[in-house]
Amino acid sequence: MLKILPEGTPNFEWNLDWDKIDHMLKVEFHCHTNASKDSLTKPEDLIRVARKKGIERLMITDHNSIAGAKAAALLDPELVIVGEEIMTTRGELLASFVQEEIPAGLSPQETLRRLKAQGAFISVSHPFDRFRNGAWHEEDLLEILPEVDAIEVFNARCMFPQFNRRAKWFAEKHNLPGTVGSDAHAAFEVGQALLVLEPFSTPEGLRQVLRNGIPQARLSSWLVHLVSRYASMRQANKTLPFS
Ligand SMILES: [Zn+2]
Repeated sequence: MLKILPEGTPNFEWNLDWDKIDHMLKVEFHCHTNASKDSLTKPEDLIRVARKKGIERLMITDHNSIAGAKAAALLDPELVIVGEEIMTTRGELLASFVQEEIPAGLSPQETLRRLKAQGAFISVSHPFDRFRNGAWHEEDLLEILPEVDAIEVFNARCMFPQFNRRAKWFAEKHNLPGTVGSDAHAAFEVGQALLVLEPFSTPEGLRQVLRNGIPQARLSSWLVHLVSRYASMRQANKTLPFS
C-alpha cells in the first residue's frame, strides 16, 4: 500500500488519477520552521513552497515549540494546522491540532495526558530510527500504544529504509493507522511524503479518514542532514564566520 518512490523522483509524477481524488486533501504531517533549533526556514517561506507544491494541509511540528506554527497559521489559516514534535523522557511524539505548547522532558504519560486534554491528534515520530535522539525502545512504545492515534510509518529523512519498514510492520501488527511525513527542515523538502486524505477539519475527523489515506512518499537525499546540521550551528552561534 505504501508506495515509496526513489530519491530524486520529480514531484507529483505519481500514478494516481488526480481527477478522481480531486476533492481529497494533500496533507503534510511533519515539518519544521526556524522555531526549531535545527531549521532556518521562515514560516512564510514554508507556506509559499507548500502552496506551490499543491499541499493543502500543512502540520507544522517544531521541536518543543508551537511559535512557528502559530505565526504560520496567522499567515495562512486554511493551510496550517498547529502541531509540535515533543521530546519526552522516552522518545518523541508528533502531535497536531495543538493549542497549548507542551514542554520537552516530561514523561510520555504526562505528555500524552496534556495532549489528550486539549484534544490533539497524536502520532509517534520515526519510532525506530536509531540515528535520532527521539527513537523509542519497543517496550516503552508498547506501553503508550493505547494512547496514540497513529505511528509515523514513513519519514523521508530516515537514512536507512529499514527504520521505516520496521515502523510500518509495527503499526500493522498492532492495528494502528500510519502517518507519513517529510520531516522537512528546509522548505524544499516539504511534500516529500504526503498523505492524500478525504476532507477533515478536526482531530476526530482526521481519525475517521486516516485509515483510507493514500500515502505518496519518497526518501530525501542524505544531504538534507547537512542542511539541518548547518542550521543548528547557525542557530547556536550567530557569530560563526559563515553566519
Ligand atoms: Zn521532525
